[in-house]
Amino acid sequence: MQPDQVTRRGFLKQAGWAGAGLALAARPRPFAFSANAQNAQAPASAAPASAPPGPDRLQMLRTAGATTPIKVTRLRDTLFLLQGVGGNMVAQIGPDGKLLIDSSAATASSRLRDTLSKLDPHPLKLLINTHWHFDHTDGNAALHNDMGAFIIAHENTRKRLSTPQEVQFYHLKLQASPTSSLPQETFTENEKLFVNNDEIDLGYMPEAHTDTDIYIYFVNGNVLHAGDIFFNDFYPFIDGGTGGTINGMIRAADTCLALADDKTKIVPGHGPLGDKDALQKYRDMLATIATRVEKLKSGGQTLEQAIAAKPTADFDAAWGKGSLTPDQFVTLVYSTL
Ligand SMILES: [Zn+2]
Repeated sequence: MQPDQVTRRGFLKQAGWAGAGLALAARPRPFAFSANAQNAQAPASAAPASAPPGPDRLQMLRTAGATTPIKVTRLRDTLFLLQGVGGNMVAQIGPDGKLLIDSSAATASSRLRDTLSKLDPHPLKLLINTHWHFDHTDGNAALHNDMGAFIIAHENTRKRLSTPQEVQFYHLKLQASPTSSLPQETFTENEKLFVNNDEIDLGYMPEAHTDTDIYIYFVNGNVLHAGDIFFNDFYPFIDGGTGGTINGMIRAADTCLALADDKTKIVPGHGPLGDKDALQKYRDMLATIATRVEKLKSGGQTLEQAIAAKPTADFDAAWGKGSLTPDQFVTLVYSTL
């Protein structure tokens, strides 16, 4: 589907944005907002509910990126988890040069460069984007221009980055990105890289968190970066405005579960490092809530009635501590079914 078609369709839907995705992964409710009651009372036929006009989320990410330290966790001998602002990153080191997954904020790039240089002396060669969202791609241009990284992503990531996008919920309009930040190589379904004595499998997960999501699996290292189809420990954002759907999220979780074994380290887009048990628990939460909301929707309940039925109630203590409130998550599920 063409990005502009998806975006127009998205205007008709309730839309949201992963506040958690724009901030420190470890900080709960970093950009929580209080539009929930207002959303719940809006008539179904009204324009999509949105947060009150507030600060520019991209600017907030960049401001935080200028000062936030990057935490490094060794996953395997050659693989590291990097956590600063924006999405979780993974770095692979070795004689072929470094490979990095996702690029955080543009303002974090000098700190990122220092962090990478301490891991080993080889230069950064490859950058892979899990999906188009700016909290995973804003650093692309700096890493490409200043460090020479060659950028790989799904073809829809390039399409979306190269055209204006809108995140209506947060009144956020994004300009087309400069050429230097665009993926230089794209693929549609699967891709294999053989780098630093590992096999790296990349695969598309359609209509999931967006229409641009891929997983990156290090076969020998047994580390899987799931991107934003996996928010570990809190309700995930589903960007219906750029092609995301709840059922695609569940299918994507199944795809990742099928790749993993009990020893696989699974990196979520946001939240702490996970494993197969954590991803299974998350997948079951998504599926249970989707089934309940689907039943309400197909039974003729409006969005407001579905929210009032509290279909997430027994999950809220465990999963409702991120930036999305339970009612907002129900809205995203309902509107993408
Ligand atoms: Zn995202």
